[in-house]
Amino acid sequence: MNIYLDIDQVLITKDLKPAKNVYEFLKYVTDNHECYWLTTHCKGEESNTLEYLKQFLDKNCFIYLNKIKPTNWDMLKTEAIDFKKEFKWFDDYVLEAEKRILLKNECFDKLVLVDLKSNPNQLKDFI
Ligand SMILES: [Mg+2]
Repeated sequence: MNIYLDIDQVLITKDLKPAKNVYEFLKYVTDNHECYWLTTHCKGEESNTLEYLKQFLDKNCFIYLNKIKPTNWDMLKTEAIDFKKEFKWFDDYVLEAEKRILLKNECFDKLVLVDLKSNPNQLKDFI
């Protein structure tokens, strides 16, 4: 399936540390699924995304990060989602308008709302 990944407060914590089990998570999702960035740090091409992550994540995980494809969207992240395919979207926050589009496409259950503060093991739970 397609996996859409936000970065802030999903792969890295609010205090800019790698999320717990982020390396195992990245290996798992990139080995088993088609992964796409869905973050304000990626608008059409991934070099800025990787440049940003370089500050916080170990360089050993870049073999996984390099497999994640860029997306392009303008107002809403849902513009970049292919609703014809099975997917999961990992994000800590979605806009009301994005929620409505998920509901309209009967895909609300495909959103994985990440809350590392209340569940620091959330990435591991998915693996
Ligand atoms: Mg975020």
